[in-house]
Amino acid sequence: MKTYDIVTIGGGPAGITIAKNLGKAKKVAIIRPEEYSMIYCAMPYVIENEIPLEKSFKSDSLVTGSGADLIRSAVTRVDFDNKTVTTADGESYGYQKLIIATGADPILPPIPGIETKGVFVFKTGKHLCDIKEIIDRHTIEYAVVIGAGAIGIEVAQALNKVTKECHLVDMTPHVLPNLVEGDMIGPVEETLTESGVKLHLNAKVEKLEGKEWVSGVVLDTGQKISFGDSGNTGEGPRGIVVFSVGMRARTELFTDTALAIGKQGIIVNDKMETNIKDVYAVGDCVQFVSGITGEVVPGKLATNAVPMARMLAKNFIGDKRHYPGFFNGAATKVENLYVGGTGLKESEAQGKFDIITATAELTTIFPILPNSKKLKMKLIADRKTKRILGAQMVSGSPVIDKLNTVTLAIQHKLTADHLVQLSYAAQPYQSFYPANNIIVACAEKILDKLRN
Ligand SMILES: Cc1cc2nc3c(=O)[nH]c(=O)nc-3n(C[C@H](O)[C@H](O)[C@H](O)COP(=O)(O)OP(=O)(O)OC[C@H]3O[C@@H](n4cnc5c(N)ncnc54)[C@H](O)[C@@H]3O)c2cc1C
Repeated sequence: MKTYDIVTIGGGPAGITIAKNLGKAKKVAIIRPEEYSMIYCAMPYVIENEIPLEKSFKSDSLVTGSGADLIRSAVTRVDFDNKTVTTADGESYGYQKLIIATGADPILPPIPGIETKGVFVFKTGKHLCDIKEIIDRHTIEYAVVIGAGAIGIEVAQALNKVTKECHLVDMTPHVLPNLVEGDMIGPVEETLTESGVKLHLNAKVEKLEGKEWVSGVVLDTGQKISFGDSGNTGEGPRGIVVFSVGMRARTELFTDTALAIGKQGIIVNDKMETNIKDVYAVGDCVQFVSGITGEVVPGKLATNAVPMARMLAKNFIGDKRHYPGFFNGAATKVENLYVGGTGLKESEAQGKFDIITATAELTTIFPILPNSKKLKMKLIADRKTKRILGAQMVSGSPVIDKLNTVTLAIQHKLTADHLVQLSYAAQPYQSFYPANNIIVACAEKILDKLRN
């Protein structure tokens, strides 16, 4: 039996990060079943034919080029006592340290009609290929996406470009409920509607209709989105339904084992150690806490998975780092608008902090220049300490760099007093006038409100 210093179960962003950082220093195996690791964020753009399928595959050399072994199989059993894993093809491997990076599975709610053909979720390369295949082989006129989070919105925009009618359904009052709040979302929803996506908000799916293929979606508002009746007549599909209603940590492999698992995933400490000696977990499969409140919060993002894995890898080669918690900076693009959020939203901060907010609007570059776009930001702080708790942005240009600046402020417990002192750069094609900066503008407004 081959034995490794480190066996990692999973070849997603977390597993690949382990290989990249430890492949040379240790004897590492990465075990994953799928033929290709995917660039998940790129998958919606394959549906709309913006990029070819092959461009969404990650190269195996990300693992093998580091010196790590890539074992293509699924782990079916872990023996924590004897420190071995067994794969679906009957091989066993020994480990000194085991890293679990099994990721998360998309949730398919148990509603009537869910087993009808033409109903999908969206996470893996297989899901993408199944959706591509049905669109390429049949005339798909209708698409209904359930869940208006970042993934759902990206999938809906893609399907809107390749179908006649695309609907987006969410039970919350506005789209992107985990990213921004109602007072920021107006232009985003307008843009989405103008592009042709039909929004159904405050609406829950009650059931799916159709005999063989799905032929309609019934909402609890009494409304029915119908694809015509060919789904019932054996002519083939006219529409598809894609559920994008959240992810659940993939932990079935450890059911009935001693591994401690919470509601949101495998329980780890800030060194990514599980309750079992020499067993660690990183990425979407773990449960972790907010870096602001210390409470367990969702955080299934590649931008959380990668830093967890990198931190663990560096500790294996001598560092003494810890994982600070989720801050959940994230962004998406809705047609020509860029939308992002970080830290706590008002609704999440309420009850834990006495919050104060401020909103500012500037332009992305000097407003006298062509291509200048609007930039709106909302900043949330604690009234008592002035500590920055969260921010949201909507703009005609990418917002991630500004968002990351605020995240750094949140992580390091900076206050509005610190942000008004931000030393910023300015240049006509890259910023607003030297006279102002969006982060400073919001922080000044918070101080103004506190003064008055
Ligand atoms: C469409 C889409 C867009 C996204 N966009 C963004 C974005 O813009 N920004 C962002 O930060 N995040 C984004 N995400 C989320 C991001 O992809 C995940 O957070 C990230 O992939 C988590 O990485 P991971 O390595 O923990 O898990 P995963 O990527 O889920 O990988 C898990 C790995 O474990 C393997 N595995 C599971 N069970 C076993 C087993 N028994 N044996 C062997 N291997 C096993 C799987 O096959 C897989 O290789 C997006 C996700 C999707 C689906």
